[in-house]
Amino acid sequence: MAQKKLPSVLLRAGEDRRVRAGHPWAFSNEILMDAETRAIAPGSLAVLRAPGGEALGLVTFNPHSLIAARLLTSNPEATVDALFFGRRLAQAAALRDRLIGVPFYRLVHAEADGLPGLIVDRFGDALAVQVNTAGMELLTPVLLEALDAELSPKTIVLKNDSPVRELEGLTRGTSVAKGDAAGPIELVENDARFVADLSGGQKTGWFYDQRDNRRFVAGLAKDARVLDVYSYSGGFGVLAAKRDARSVVCIDRSQAALDAAKAAADLNGVDKIVSFDKAEAFDALERRAGETFDLVICDPPAFVKSRKDLKTGAQGYRKLVRLAAPLVAKGGFLFVASCSHLVDPPLFGEQVRRGLRDAGRSGRILLSSGAALDHPVHPGLPETAYLKALTLQLD
Ligand code: SAH
Repeated sequence: MAQKKLPSVLLRAGEDRRVRAGHPWAFSNEILMDAETRAIAPGSLAVLRAPGGEALGLVTFNPHSLIAARLLTSNPEATVDALFFGRRLAQAAALRDRLIGVPFYRLVHAEADGLPGLIVDRFGDALAVQVNTAGMELLTPVLLEALDAELSPKTIVLKNDSPVRELEGLTRGTSVAKGDAAGPIELVENDARFVADLSGGQKTGWFYDQRDNRRFVAGLAKDARVLDVYSYSGGFGVLAAKRDARSVVCIDRSQAALDAAKAAADLNGVDKIVSFDKAEAFDALERRAGETFDLVICDPPAFVKSRKDLKTGAQGYRKLVRLAAPLVAKGGFLFVASCSHLVDPPLFGEQVRRGLRDAGRSGRILLSSGAALDHPVHPGLPETAYLKALTLQLD
């Protein structure tokens, strides 16, 4: 049954080409913003129409956001209900079950999974959900019903604290939609055990995007002295210890993060190998000048958060490499990542190269990688592939 009375939003002359070519967004300047369109409640479902009136699909519409229309389906007759969400969730879960094999993964990665504005990370029978658009906010009751029907989770945390919500006119906060979310829970990744705090941790509590990079890097760790800078809950460092590193030092400025890393070290029986240094990363690297490690891992938070900090923020990666590279033994390895979506791979590579030059080190790139496979990318939005990482061997 078709939905009744959905409002229509009309693209301006010539502006239908991109959507017809498979792009899932229409920007506010591409839409005919007459008084009626502007008055549509933020997040409403609407029919997106070509300038001639042809229906191109159903969108969530927010007249106050730069990304005004986000395509939910190219079928304008579709009914967006719990069954609709359920089908998309089932597809997303089937893909992850095939790719990852254990129920600990990013279940929904927004547009790439046909659910714009939505992130869901799965921790067994607990889910951390991030709703980032007004459209997904209005659809949250339907989403929760579908999550229940498809996955029967015990716990659902709405971790709606991302700054991007403000661009959509949404407030920020964390709430529990189902069950009891008190305290950290356990997860399994790369055959190791970790802990995540879905309500109190950073983002959804765990960074699944580094799963494959952690596995690769830990594969270099046998007998190595390892420094894990910006360690968070030990995703790299504890796995390296489990893969027979000689010693691992985790540096982070968050005590809660280091407590979770310590809990993971205990769970994996590597607590004798892993030690912790609560510090500002740059200070710690400067303080440790003269020490030597066989593997240095640097996975910082986004240094570039807005276009206006692109230049100065990007230089943070150069500085990081300048301070980290001198600690790498001859023939040792340096892993460095950037999750700033505004820093593209060439710019990141350039900053890493300059940092190495500043440090007077040469070497070779072994692996240029991105996010793990449960973070797919919509083909129309290649710029949303935010994670970049380089693994180098240094001379
Ligand atoms: N490598 C981690 C993820 C890192 S997220 C993993 O594999 O899961 C970034 C981490 O950097 C966070 O834990 C945050 O607490 C820490 N952090 C942010 N700014 C920092 C700073 N200036 N010095 C040290 N740690 C910092």
